[in-house]
Amino acid sequence: MTAPPRVAVVGGGFAGLAAAVRLARRGAAVTLVERRPFLGGRAYSFTDPATGDVVDNGPHALMGAYTAALDFLGEIGATAKLAFQPRLRVALADPGLGLGVVAAPPLPGPLQAPAALLRYRLLGPRDRVRLLTGAVRLAARSSGSLSRTTVAEALAAVGQSPAACARFWHPLAIATLNELPGAAAAAPFAAVLRKAFFAGARAARFALSRVPLSELYTVDAQRAIERAGGTVRTGAAVATLALGPEGVEALVLRDGTRVAADAVVLAVPVAALLRLLPSRLRDAPPFRPLASVGTSPIVSVHVWLDRHVGWGGPFLGLLGGRAQWLFDAGVAADGGHRIASVTSGARFWDDAADDEIAAEVLADAAAVLPALGRVRVRRTLVIRERHATLSLTPAADAVRPDVETPVANLFLAGDWVQTHLPATIESAVISGRAAADRALPAATRRARPVPWRPDAPAPSALPSATLPPSP
Ligand SMILES: Cc1cc2nc3c(=O)[nH]c(=O)nc-3n(C[C@H](O)[C@H](O)[C@H](O)COP(=O)(O)OP(=O)(O)OC[C@H]3O[C@@H](n4cnc5c(N)ncnc54)[C@H](O)[C@@H]3O)c2cc1C
Repeated sequence: MTAPPRVAVVGGGFAGLAAAVRLARRGAAVTLVERRPFLGGRAYSFTDPATGDVVDNGPHALMGAYTAALDFLGEIGATAKLAFQPRLRVALADPGLGLGVVAAPPLPGPLQAPAALLRYRLLGPRDRVRLLTGAVRLAARSSGSLSRTTVAEALAAVGQSPAACARFWHPLAIATLNELPGAAAAAPFAAVLRKAFFAGARAARFALSRVPLSELYTVDAQRAIERAGGTVRTGAAVATLALGPEGVEALVLRDGTRVAADAVVLAVPVAALLRLLPSRLRDAPPFRPLASVGTSPIVSVHVWLDRHVGWGGPFLGLLGGRAQWLFDAGVAADGGHRIASVTSGARFWDDAADDEIAAEVLADAAAVLPALGRVRVRRTLVIRERHATLSLTPAADAVRPDVETPVANLFLAGDWVQTHLPATIESAVISGRAAADRALPAATRRARPVPWRPDAPAPSALPSATLPPSP
């Protein structure tokens, strides 16, 4: 008789929670350890002390194509907290040209995305046809054939005009990859086109959380882990791993406590991983090349208005300036209205003051929403996620490791692990679940026999339901 295999999961973001839920539900004795006093990693919300409003660290969108993330939300009973578009609809506004909408008409599934591109009025007829043929050609390219190619090179190779790049491709690529097209890897971008835009009507839809981000999944995930007998420890930072002759033996926390484990899943960002790995692992493949992987920032600006300013949808692409997307954040606690912008790959604001950033965002937004110039702005809050995701260049994509490591009972998870997708919630959940699938058998192989105690009940005294049926 063996004890349930003990698996320690480090990191309480989407990847760690998805791994821990799967492991706990499949019978492992799971301990999830999170450094911060709360779960949620880079997708979290908090109460703004000035207004009492609960604010997301940055607006997050999911897509119908996020099959693993949606399945995870279903597994923990959180699906109803998402609001899906009935069909793909993305509006973009240009100060000179007005509003253009990439919207799927009610046609049979496979025809929706092509029809949406052909009706995009911010481009002329020739560019729209090229948009469609370019998207089809790019989606058809294998990851291998694009491994050294940037998004800008791939778009040039499929004949996209400067207008098509500025008014469609670049906003889409920067939002999905969090990197500028001249640097971003084309392979995961082509994967997004295949999986989201050319995979049928349901995949192409966007979904937004109806509740603040942390409420979307952290409480339900923790409950699922605990109901299955697992433990969640927040405010507990892992300092390093204790290695033995056969692999990892325990997590060593900063306060010196050890968490013994038969297998470990590290679901932390790259920089945190490199900090906690013992040097003899850190300096060997596949970890050593990770030291050269950079990160890319996302800047969000939350704005409190004294009254409603809308644009007929939950989000809007801003063209012509540097601010990128605007989200409707709903009614504020004081009865006014909240909007929030999100701008990816925003290194240009690294040294700017918060006031300057907020003023630029408001000016870019007012250039397409004149009503914004007529309302009173009560408060702005700038959130800079300097290391929002890895900088997904072709070189970085080439060194993203698999969930398995050279240590037989050590596994990796996180949006940056090689999933052939951009560093998103979907990538995080895929990697977390894949790590769980590998960690469970590895832990089971190492799980120690339960020491025999003379006072323990003999197996035949156990309730019959726990015994295999007799032949
Ligand atoms: C502003 C912003 C907007 C975004 N928008 C979108 C979007 O619209 N759609 C989308 O799909 N994705 C979006 N993303 C990306 C998405 O948030 C991430 O891909 C996802 O949250 C990553 O989850 P993860 O579990 O891999 O990592 P994380 O969420 O970073 O979780 C890792 C956890 O490990 C913990 N940790 C680190 N070191 C230790 C240690 N030593 N001991 C214990 N714990 C430790 C951290 O505290 C953290 O909680 C956005 C990200 C940002 C920042």
